[in-house]
Amino acid sequence: MARSILDAIINMNRLHLSRDAVTVYEALEDAGFTTAAINITCYRGRTRHLPTLRGVTIPAYGPKRFFFYNLFESDPTGAPLAVFGRAQGSIDGYAAAVGRWLVTRDGFDFLVYYLPDYDFASHALGPDGAFEALARSDAAVGALLDAAGGPDEFLDRYAVILCSDHGQTRVERSARLESTFAHVPGTLVTASNRAGMVYGLPECRLDARGLAELLDSDPDAETVLFREGDDVIARRDGEEVVVDGDGPLFDYPDGGARAWAALHNPNAGDVVVSAAPGVEFTDLAGRHHAGGGSHGSLERGDSEVPMLAIGLDAAPESIVDVAPAVLRHFGVEPPPYARALSRAA
Ligand SMILES: [Zn+2]
Repeated sequence: MARSILDAIINMNRLHLSRDAVTVYEALEDAGFTTAAINITCYRGRTRHLPTLRGVTIPAYGPKRFFFYNLFESDPTGAPLAVFGRAQGSIDGYAAAVGRWLVTRDGFDFLVYYLPDYDFASHALGPDGAFEALARSDAAVGALLDAAGGPDEFLDRYAVILCSDHGQTRVERSARLESTFAHVPGTLVTASNRAGMVYGLPECRLDARGLAELLDSDPDAETVLFREGDDVIARRDGEEVVVDGDGPLFDYPDGGARAWAALHNPNAGDVVVSAAPGVEFTDLAGRHHAGGGSHGSLERGDSEVPMLAIGLDAAPESIVDVAPAVLRHFGVEPPPYARALSRAA
């Protein structure tokens, strides 16, 4: 518990998120707007907040109005405890209570309202078995509209972007990516959900290509990616192509941009693996969602999301366009790297 709080909640924003990045909260607050975030794991802002847990003194820098699973609460809202009863929707119930409080007061210019209970249910039950949780997510969105006095009143006040951060596809079985590399000295495998990475440590005698080719006969590793010189190479079913960052990859229409971006992350493994349909890689603890759902591969169902925009000049075409679209809506110029990313996507 202590480790997961520290890594996922504190260090992801404090240490792992690049200092060169400008978050949407930072850019808007610098321009004089009030930002708010409920439950979203990416929250870095300008305001120092102390956790509500007695004895935990590590501060987090978040938006001015910052709510995270009862752990950080910038304002006393009376919202119920969130962390227990997750399968019954306690997290989104907490978000709805805080969201209602904020909308009632018009307490923000920009709000990120994150509803993760559907993801939790779809992992457990599969994407076709989680409609009840989806109905609860819908009710949590409805709570915001009600707090404004109805949909028309809500939309008079706010523009809206509604989207998911990924999809899910059904998982039939699990696989251990580590098994291929167990007898290859100097390798480290990190896998989770429907993607995995292989790192060659300094003592490893194989280069990225050598590591990638070890997966040629593994039916669970559908698309295997690595860098060679300035190129990103993809191997699948004995076929090898140089990835076009602006084009399709095999039968994935947007696969080129996604593969290119993944391999250019400075922390990416030497080899990045996209799992075959229906397969999930077990994580370091051996956990998986066989019989349920998962995401993370190049498969369109894992990643393609609906996007609904109301009151914006132009709807974002990809999730990487969401933050720039928000900033433009407020008349704030996006950071230069955001425009480059949008073009690549
Ligand atoms: Zn998930």
